[in-house]
Amino acid sequence: MTEVVILGAGLTGLSCAYHFEKNNFFNFKVFEKNDREGGLLKSFKQDGFTFDFTGHLLHISDSYFLSFLDNISKLSNFNLVTRNSGIYIDKKITPYPFQTNLYGLPQNIILDSIYGFINRKKSLRNPKTFNEWVLKYFGSGIGKHFFFPYNKKLFAFDVKKITPSWTGRFVPKTNLKTIIKNAISPKSQNNVGYNNKFYYPKSGGIEYLIKNLKNKIQNKIHKNHNAINIDLINKIIYFENGHKEKYKYLISTIPLNILLKSLTEPANLNLHKSHSKLLCNSVLNFNLGFNVEKLTKKHWIYFPQKEYPFYRIGFWNNVSPTSVQKSCTAIYGEVSYLPEQKTEKQIKNLTEKSINKTLKNLKLKTSNVITKKILHLPHAYVIYNFWREKNLKSLLEKLKDLSIHSTGRYGEWKYSSMQEAVLDGKKVVENMLCKLNFKKQHNRIYRSQKGNENNIKILQ
Ligand SMILES: Cc1cc2nc3c(=O)[nH]c(=O)nc-3n(C[C@H](O)[C@H](O)[C@H](O)COP(=O)(O)OP(=O)(O)OC[C@H]3O[C@@H](n4cnc5c(N)ncnc54)[C@H](O)[C@@H]3O)c2cc1C
Repeated sequence: MTEVVILGAGLTGLSCAYHFEKNNFFNFKVFEKNDREGGLLKSFKQDGFTFDFTGHLLHISDSYFLSFLDNISKLSNFNLVTRNSGIYIDKKITPYPFQTNLYGLPQNIILDSIYGFINRKKSLRNPKTFNEWVLKYFGSGIGKHFFFPYNKKLFAFDVKKITPSWTGRFVPKTNLKTIIKNAISPKSQNNVGYNNKFYYPKSGGIEYLIKNLKNKIQNKIHKNHNAINIDLINKIIYFENGHKEKYKYLISTIPLNILLKSLTEPANLNLHKSHSKLLCNSVLNFNLGFNVEKLTKKHWIYFPQKEYPFYRIGFWNNVSPTSVQKSCTAIYGEVSYLPEQKTEKQIKNLTEKSINKTLKNLKLKTSNVITKKILHLPHAYVIYNFWREKNLKSLLEKLKDLSIHSTGRYGEWKYSSMQEAVLDGKKVVENMLCKLNFKKQHNRIYRSQKGNENNIKILQ
């Protein structure tokens, strides 16, 4: 019997496979529903352009992840880029982040933002919603002009109905001195936030990383295997193509709601019922190639205002010059929506409207478009609703007790990056090797001198 089955060959699933093999453990199988590995890290070549599923840029804050990237595909094959991003407000582009770059904005926005910050609800204890969190740390003005409309668009959800527990490193905090200094000085403050620098492959799009990672993995990846039923009682996974696989432990990197929906479980458990409580949005990603030279030096621009259906437009040529034809420009646009609220026809209309608005904003015509690639991300941003806050932890624990480790961005139902996908894979493998008592067989695991459980480490 296979000791470990890994479901999904996106970055998290491949990271699990890589780290198992790195520790000389080969008794695992990976199953992927698609005919290609990579999950959201796929690149599409078309008419001399390369498009990803929207901008997938590597923001690195962890030294292990940096060395992993170097081992997998040599850092010299990546460009290290300093972010140049902006926010489009009132027909002007102000540098990102909004809260520390008020200079040049209309006077009423600057005054609202400063006044609101001074009167922010500092005394509010434990803000329960994102709305309250903004009022506590930034005040009503910055909320009104940026955080509320932008995040409503990003999540396609009411910000009074989501919790702030995703904010962490994604929303940089600030102080009054910085706000005022940068409201009266044209010198923008750019070096803040988790994404102020990024790595991106010199060529081949983000899938370059997946291709290299795949080459480091010896075990076969079983593609075209869509798991449709997981029998918890007999520990068997049934696939759409008729294959079935028994497991001792299951690492699932597929979306948690899909995993739960597919469970056949003992009558008293009722875990599958929770699948409908886990909400996420979908992203429509329109990519366009234009027969014009540089439109801007920006890597991407946020659009908080309602009149634009998209929340962000990025410029492929600035992110990666090799991704576009010579003397051309290419963009990616992102629109969030709740899948249960949109019909196919509405999504088609949304696509057309978004493209028309983009062309108008960039002062281009349909005749400038030389290629178009429309991509859909059915699972995009997890909605941090109150149910998730209350129940997710215990749900994941219950699955663990049933030998299912659900991990990664969609496995743990969270807002996270490629760096975390690799680290999540590494962590789950370390825990599993301990469980499997792999130490006895291979002596690859050592305990620190203190003999503390928390200090168990895997030799690198
Ligand atoms: C719009 C957007 C922009 C992003 N931008 C960035 C960025 O700039 N930088 C960054 O670091 N991160 C970014 N991310 C996050 C990044 O995409 C994820 O962290 C990462 O791709 C997660 O990888 P994963 O393997 O956990 O999930 P996935 O990539 O979703 O992989 C899951 C795999 O499981 C497979 N699967 C699903 N169901 C089944 C089934 N039933 N049976 C078998 N296989 C199945 C899927 O086909 C897929 O291959 C972005 C995400 C989104 C949505």
